Amino acid sequence: MKRGSLIIVSGPSGAGKSALVGRALAAIQNLEFSVSYTTRPPRRNERDGVEYFFVDRREFEARIAAGDLLEWAEVHGNCYGTSRRFVDGRLERGTDVILDIDVQGADIIRRERPEAVGVFVMPPSFEVLRERLTRRSLDDADVIRMRLERACGEISRYHEYDYLIVNDGLEAAIRDLEAIILSTRCRMSAMTGPARSIMQTFGGTHAEDP
Ligand code: 5GP
Repeated sequence: MKRGSLIIVSGPSGAGKSALVGRALAAIQNLEFSVSYTTRPPRRNERDGVEYFFVDRREFEARIAAGDLLEWAEVHGNCYGTSRRFVDGRLERGTDVILDIDVQGADIIRRERPEAVGVFVMPPSFEVLRERLTRRSLDDADVIRMRLERACGEISRYHEYDYLIVNDGLEAAIRDLEAIILSTRCRMSAMTGPARSIMQTFGGTHAEDP
């Protein structure tokens, strides 16, 4: 059976990661979103267990201590972490898992799981990012300033990823993300299992079979 692929989507907040990930999830079968734990309070319309599992700091710390977090990071004063059990359970079933996480978390996962595919999402310019963060007005002015300051550090790490999407328009950016996810499924490393089964029908493994 084919193991699922781990796809990390990262980049500064306001780059459009969650919109892109949402569209990819709606368009592509056998792809699931890794629902993270966070100590951030829910925003309007956010539901527990859908966008995040909303927990308090005590529960978050208990999960770190129990080793349940594949990675975790403090972002804008709140803690965010990826559930190891959720991710590995889906990957073992053959489902691809997509993560929307910050650059610190992405760094940890890429070191622990070198087979993971890293996708960095960039806004076309600093001005556009500022406009987007202001327009979506989910946060107050101080928070927006903090997010912009942080974006300058985050964006400088784009070259550490396998793929770069410049989000200058949602439709083009979504096509890029879908293409990346679909091509990930055909990587030789992901296809070793199915290839071996097919080779069996040809009378066993070939000397050049990996
Ligand atoms: P927001 O509060 O806007 O939902 O997310 C803030 C930032 O936290 C975003 O950059 C998002 O990608 C990141 N984030 C969400 N979940 C996780 C996680 O599990 N781990 C890490 N390291 N970052 C996360």
